[in-house]
Amino acid sequence: MNELDLVDRIRRMSGGARPREGLLLGIGDDCAIYRPKSTEDMLFKTDQLIEGVHFLPTLPPAAIGQRALARALSDIAAMGGTPRLCLVSLTIPRNRPASWILAFFRGLLALARRTGTILAGGDLARSDKLYCDVMLCGVVPRGLALRRDTARPGDNLWISGRLGKPWDRPIRPRLDLGRKLLRRDIACTACIDISDGLALDLHRLCLASGVAAELDRVALLKRVARGASLERALHGGDDYELLFTLPPRKAGPAGTTKIGKMVAGKPGAMRLEGRPLAPRGYDHFGIDIT
Ligand SMILES: [Mg+2]
Repeated sequence: MNELDLVDRIRRMSGGARPREGLLLGIGDDCAIYRPKSTEDMLFKTDQLIEGVHFLPTLPPAAIGQRALARALSDIAAMGGTPRLCLVSLTIPRNRPASWILAFFRGLLALARRTGTILAGGDLARSDKLYCDVMLCGVVPRGLALRRDTARPGDNLWISGRLGKPWDRPIRPRLDLGRKLLRRDIACTACIDISDGLALDLHRLCLASGVAAELDRVALLKRVARGASLERALHGGDDYELLFTLPPRKAGPAGTTKIGKMVAGKPGAMRLEGRPLAPRGYDHFGIDIT
């Protein structure tokens, strides 16, 4: 199978070049064409997936494809957005056959279909290391995107789901919850997704908003995944849940839990049951930010 055949197979698997949801032209020309509505802001995201860094070499190709898209979708969810289209660049070692590449795209496209994401283009190349880059574009009602720099002292801190889940399981991006948080009656003030561990991502939210945070240990313990430790829930990463803030008298949607509050103080400072909490998590550059 040569590259043209391969691209044609992927194009057909993705639903072809027919216009959908603002996409005027998909895979097949020099560029894709997308026309946004005047009532929308567009969200852009790029996310890399590197063998041995973001997943183990033993992970099956369909699961790697799913993971590549899911990580980017989690960021769209964190802004309250709806995904529209993605571009996927993939470099594949020579020892992986065409069937491996098709399985990768089968996994990616299954999640794309479930979430309304169109594969609108990309690039394939051979290299000695498996490397994938997903560029994802989403939309959000104009002016309403959830951000990490808008939490206020006095807001309560909430999370979805459970923390400390095992790595290499399928990621379920919280797109429905992100959209719910846009509702006026919920009045969400800030949001971030937990990709590198609760402590590190909360620290980022606090720094961006210029506030400090206090975590409730008892509430947090109830949200630790079965078989995981509090240490892993705080610093492990790879959870892809949403961490968000609400005004004091507001309640989060079903399946979410209040785990603390935002307070005035040194920006980025965090306390767990009164004790300082270090912003340790998954950090590619290992820079000490304490
Ligand atoms: Mg993120």
